[in-house]
Amino acid sequence: MPEENSSDQPNNHEPEPSASAIFVAMMRQAAEKAVSSAPAENADPASPAFEDEISLEPPPETHDIRRVRPRLILRRPHPSSMASGFFGAIFVVVISTALVATLLMFFINPEFLSPAVVQGLQLDSQGRMINAEVARPTPVRTPHWLRRIGIISGHRGKGATGGRDPGAICEDQYGNPFLTEADINFAVAQRVVASLESLNYGVELLDEYDPRLHNYRADALVSIHANTCYDFGEYVSGFIVAISEARPEYGPDAFLRECIADNFGANVPLPRSYNVTEDMTEYHVWQKIHPLTPGMILEMGYMLADQAVLTEDPDLLARAVIAGILCFIENVGKPHTQLQTDQRAAPYVIPILATPTPIFRN
Ligand SMILES: [Zn+2]
Repeated sequence: MPEENSSDQPNNHEPEPSASAIFVAMMRQAAEKAVSSAPAENADPASPAFEDEISLEPPPETHDIRRVRPRLILRRPHPSSMASGFFGAIFVVVISTALVATLLMFFINPEFLSPAVVQGLQLDSQGRMINAEVARPTPVRTPHWLRRIGIISGHRGKGATGGRDPGAICEDQYGNPFLTEADINFAVAQRVVASLESLNYGVELLDEYDPRLHNYRADALVSIHANTCYDFGEYVSGFIVAISEARPEYGPDAFLRECIADNFGANVPLPRSYNVTEDMTEYHVWQKIHPLTPGMILEMGYMLADQAVLTEDPDLLARAVIAGILCFIENVGKPHTQLQTDQRAAPYVIPILATPTPIFRN
């Protein structure tokens, strides 16, 4: 052992070997002694067949062999096909995408999501999911200017034959006309239009044979008329309301008709007459307007018996018509109850939108 050590160091004859060289030499000798004296400890206990080989061969070689063998086993490549590699890549991409998306959700502004999604994620006080079907009142009502109302001033403009059409006429004892239905109607119709416009409704004043009536669309169409001045030989009085014969009795048209009737009757000191004629149920306008436009015709009164009411205060007549129109416009779509089974009675709960202000004193 010392010989080996001295032969390894060429500077052996020099006075003192360095301390580190001595230490390395001592460690090497100890290692060689341990390998040669205890081969059973270093040999694999599971394979005693190697013991002879280990004892014959030099220790460093044994050391190399026993290290290389497990490395070869560990580094043996796993057999993998193209398909498994492809699906493995897809799997990794999907998983990582899901993770990234989940993380990014925390940084998204809630307003970026659509209101329906946000509402669907919200919980109520009981912790239940708020159902999107739960209706909430619209915070903003439909603007009045989106509500279109048509007012026909009866017999205004050219008649069916192209000439002037005054409608009914009242003549004096000499046969001179002193009152025309067209004038009565227009005095009321223009007031109705002006008042509805001041309430920000979209209103159109229409002539009797207005070309706009063809396929006319509106939320309500009211034709304002007055009844004949003919002397029947008896007292004939009252206002009449009617809708097209083709419209259903419980549809919007009937609702409009009853709104007008109730509010007109509450404001104007005239009884409701039910002398509905074919001129009203088969009114020429009904064949022209759009099928979904609710329409009604109002005969405000008879020009002979009710002349004072029809001529003295057109503002009152106009207010009565407006109250009826607002009753219909503001209550369309609300649930209604059939209160009475009388055919003449209104099948709706119709609010009276103005208090009666009688002007007639007998
Ligand atoms: Zn008329």
